[in-house]
Amino acid sequence: MEGARAGGSGWWHRKLARFIDTWRVFTGLWCSPTHLYKEFAMRSRWLMMPLLLSLLTGALHAAGPQLVAAPQRDLWPDSLGSNAGFDRASRAELLVFAPALAESESMDAATLMTRLKIKQVDEASVARLRKQWWQRLLLNYQAASAACVSSEPFCLPVHDLDGFRKAAVGFTAPAEARYASWYDNALTFHRTYLDELLRLAALFPRTNSEVDVFSPREITGSDWPDRHFQLSFDDGPTAIGGGTDRLVTMLREHQLHALFFVLGERLQPRLQAAGRDAMAQTYKGMCVGAHGWEHKSHSGWPQWQDSVIRSTALIQAQLPEVQSPWFRPPFGQRRADSAAFFQAQGLRVALWNIDSQDWNSKVDADQVRQRVLTLMLLWRRGVILFHDIHDKAQQAVPWLLQQTHDAGVVWTDCHDLDG
Ligand SMILES: [Zn+2]
Repeated sequence: MEGARAGGSGWWHRKLARFIDTWRVFTGLWCSPTHLYKEFAMRSRWLMMPLLLSLLTGALHAAGPQLVAAPQRDLWPDSLGSNAGFDRASRAELLVFAPALAESESMDAATLMTRLKIKQVDEASVARLRKQWWQRLLLNYQAASAACVSSEPFCLPVHDLDGFRKAAVGFTAPAEARYASWYDNALTFHRTYLDELLRLAALFPRTNSEVDVFSPREITGSDWPDRHFQLSFDDGPTAIGGGTDRLVTMLREHQLHALFFVLGERLQPRLQAAGRDAMAQTYKGMCVGAHGWEHKSHSGWPQWQDSVIRSTALIQAQLPEVQSPWFRPPFGQRRADSAAFFQAQGLRVALWNIDSQDWNSKVDADQVRQRVLTLMLLWRRGVILFHDIHDKAQQAVPWLLQQTHDAGVVWTDCHDLDG
């Protein structure tokens, strides 16, 4: 299977990889964790010809999940702009996601394969991750309920995991009618979102992703303090005056210090065009880590170590003022045994736990921001994945700040993550 990935020996694989690389530049489908590239690479060479033909004839137009979870936040009738408001909305989201998770536990592997449209399910991985999710949901619900009083909506007595499971499964609808429209929409969102997670869990570790870590050198932000979030932006830099420049300007206006994971093959020409001083000025106040030299999976690519070393060295040599010791693997894909290598390089691996889906051409800017806010309410902490090569984050971030203003949310400084 590894040999069938990027850099593999098969002529068809190399041909197809080049074709998809070209194709995705034009379609904007660059950084999907469920990207066509890895989908194709997983399949045997005997499937390559018909798939290539279907690409050429335009039969396939999209990457990622067929159904993308995007909620409608305007159906939530209350303000989030206070600690209590954030917690109320958070409890509400938790009480919709948790029953969906419980319901999924009755599905056997065959049912999951059909539901998730995948050909194999790693049952041990799904069980392990479900357990992690339940623990996080319990902690989140307890944090969100800390200030509950008797008349407060979505407050159920919960003392332990068993009690939370029972309370969540028994939650079938909000008591107040004004939440009815939100609830109907949230049911659809959380079932769809859960499928995204289950799919990643079922494929892990054979096709690995951000859904889990291999070592303590890797982070997703899932275990951070309550309400702490880090913004991160991948795949840049863009050409001079493009999305990267607009984004950093906006972030600086809001005193935000975000992580940028750059591709060596994009940074190098921009450095040549703009000069290193101008580039350092562009990223001033931000943290710049490597995303590899090329946007290829770093789990099966024979040159993955060279890619890490070369892209890191370029940042170190040209942009030492803003260099970050974090590496982000394209698609979140890295080798399970890569911890020693990253340690030797003085690097840690920054994954994420909130995928904005801004890379997905089927999700517009409004859906991106509503999805991120809902996932912030659900997970209450973590690393948010955006891309500066798409413009959706420029609309999403100011809106997220405004929605959560005075809600106790902490936008962490990327410099505090170092070391
Ligand atoms: Zn990427």
